[in-house]
Amino acid sequence: MLIIMDKTASDEQIEVVEDKIRSMGWTPHEIPGSLRIAIGITGNKGAVDPSLFSNLTGVVECIPVSKPYKLVSRDVKPEDTILNLSNATIGGKDLVLMAGPCSVESRSQIMEVAEFVKSQGAQVLRGGAYKPRTSPYSFQGLKEEGLKYLREAADKFDMSVVTELKDTETVELVSEYADMLQIGARNMHNFSLLEAVGRTNKPVLLKRGLAATIEEWLMAAEYIASQGNYNIALCERGIRTFETYTRNTLDLNAVPMVKQLSHLPIIVDPSHGTGSWELVTPMALAAVAAGADGLLIEVHPHPEKALSDGKQSLRPETFAELVDRLKKIVPACRRNFN
Ligand code: PEP
Ligand code: MN
Repeated sequence: MLIIMDKTASDEQIEVVEDKIRSMGWTPHEIPGSLRIAIGITGNKGAVDPSLFSNLTGVVECIPVSKPYKLVSRDVKPEDTILNLSNATIGGKDLVLMAGPCSVESRSQIMEVAEFVKSQGAQVLRGGAYKPRTSPYSFQGLKEEGLKYLREAADKFDMSVVTELKDTETVELVSEYADMLQIGARNMHNFSLLEAVGRTNKPVLLKRGLAATIEEWLMAAEYIASQGNYNIALCERGIRTFETYTRNTLDLNAVPMVKQLSHLPIIVDPSHGTGSWELVTPMALAAVAAGADGLLIEVHPHPEKALSDGKQSLRPETFAELVDRLKKIVPACRRNFN
């Protein structure tokens, strides 16, 4: 249920509605937005009776929300959500470019990549310090040392940092260094982790699970929002299908579909979505044409020596070519790029 209040409703009138919601054992959520004052209800088991609220002063309308996800749905908030990071905005008119290596491998590596991707217009530096690897014997990341290098590189080149955290134990530590917390595909169903990042006020980049439907993905976002953190961007990074020539199948249908269903911004990651560097540029361009709010691209100075995901990492010169082509198509997609 969504309760729409009169635009001129007073704080006291809003408080009366919220107290009533709490007295039923449910949770009120004031939905941020400039066009109207709306209060969402979560925690109810069955349908909410609108007559509980419709007679309270200041209440204009009670709208039932039929979708299983509520706070992240477009029904509850028609306007697009825009996330503000220190050096980037995500959503709205501007296309955001997030780039960097799969893993932070050394101070010099991340410095070199940061300087280069920034010079090409990337606003957000990515890099994994805690790596979820298929094999326990593969490189697991530099952990806190990697976070320090990331922060130092981002500060030096006026960038924001997005980095993955794998478990609830590291939420606090990673939050000290990162501007945006990445929930990886393998953790999209880790509900305790979703709730833990929902209790922070950090923007979250929520990757789509390897075999998650769009609805399951939006439900994962709802877990985060249900704890009070609405600063969420979704990231389409490919799903597992029967196809074996590509690492994953990049589901670009998800972009316009999510735009219909949700107010959250959506980023596309063609690096994990394809698994090969040759496919990254064409799919990045296609993602922008499909309406993505931004791109997440893996870049490595020497992909052949990368400790993870070298096959899908762009060399600096290839990244520059991608940016060159992006500049041509972004205006045609009714967006700005730098
Ligand atoms: C990554 O961004 O390097 C990563 C591990 O991504 P995903 O969770 O999409 O596999
Ligand atoms: Mn990777």
